Amino acid sequence: MKRILVTGGAGFVGSHLCTRLIEEGNEVICLDNYFTGNKKNIVHLLENHFFELVRHDITEPYYAEVDEIYNLACPASPVHYQYNPIKTMKTSVMGAINSLGLAKRVNAKILQASTSEVYGDPKVHPQPESYWGNVNPIGTRSCYDEGKRAAETLFMDYHHQNRVKVKIIRIFNTYGPNMNPEDGRVVSNFIVQALRGEDITIFGNGTQTRSFQYVDDLVEGMIRMMNSRDGFLGPVNLGNPGEFTMLELADKIIELTGSSSKIIHLELPKDDPTQRKPLIDLAKKELNGWEPKVKLEEGLVKTIAYFDELLKEEKVLA
Ligand code: NAD
Ligand code: UDP
Repeated sequence: MKRILVTGGAGFVGSHLCTRLIEEGNEVICLDNYFTGNKKNIVHLLENHFFELVRHDITEPYYAEVDEIYNLACPASPVHYQYNPIKTMKTSVMGAINSLGLAKRVNAKILQASTSEVYGDPKVHPQPESYWGNVNPIGTRSCYDEGKRAAETLFMDYHHQNRVKVKIIRIFNTYGPNMNPEDGRVVSNFIVQALRGEDITIFGNGTQTRSFQYVDDLVEGMIRMMNSRDGFLGPVNLGNPGEFTMLELADKIIELTGSSSKIIHLELPKDDPTQRKPLIDLAKKELNGWEPKVKLEEGLVKTIAYFDELLKEEKVLA
């Protein structure tokens, strides 16, 4: 049995990861400050004696004897990470330093949840890990993009200077149950709007693209990365290469929900990347043939069912 720390464990991805790690017979410490996470996401684990919940902010040091650390603590939605950009940068940078310091002290293996945002508004398409990106250092998205880039630097430097066993994954847009309905990201926004019969808000003309990965595929990739051969540090892309415009996504969600919602167009946020699609050859090679299994439609159906239930519960409580 391994003892595993998951920072940001009460968030969307973290809650799925904690559940899977517990199911596999590990002891899990879930650390979160609940900025964007929610206890509801992990309430089903609270009865388990091998699951421990810690309210803590990762910008402050944390001490525990652990074998592995998954460092996920960081708001991921543009709305949330731009709410307090200085705090976002602190979370990425101080959070990485505190998590790496812990890994160094207790000789734990540590995985960083980095992001496709390190590629910025990419000029190379699709994006290989070797691409250094096209990032604005002083824009509205910079607190997140540059914070994550600095964290990658810290991970590599702790490895080279202190021989910490590090792993870096670059996650492309991921969706699924346990996303916060008010989180502002496109998949949850469109589904919630469609289910409530509200207008579907496309930012800009909707021709920008993203590649959407279902959360189960990501969690499988994360665990394979943690268990990958010594000496393979990444960074490795984890994403679904299926590429869709926001117009296509909106149409698909309207179709699957049978909604009467209309599409409206709002202003495109500054520095919104025009295209994004991962190359996943490295993941396939190093992570035992890993590739996403869940097609967009299948994942959307599961996610719609989750939000449908959630919105019904909210109505009952209202
Ligand atoms: P999320 O916002 O649902 O989860 C983040 C969690 O971190 C939340 O529970 C939040 O409360 C917690 N947190 C934030 N700041 C903290 C702090 N200072 N101390 C302790 N906890 C803190 O987002 P998510 O989608 O689950 O993302 C998880 C990780 O994966 C993030 O690091 C994110 O950058 C990365 N990522 C996610 C995606 C995606 O599409 N979901 C894409 C790229 C990268
Ligand atoms: N987007 C949109 N309507 C929304 C929310 C987002 O059209 O209600 C667009 C956004 O401008 C971006 C894409 O959807 O082009 C993905 O946005 P998200 O915030 O989910 O993630 P990110 O921009 O970080 O990839």
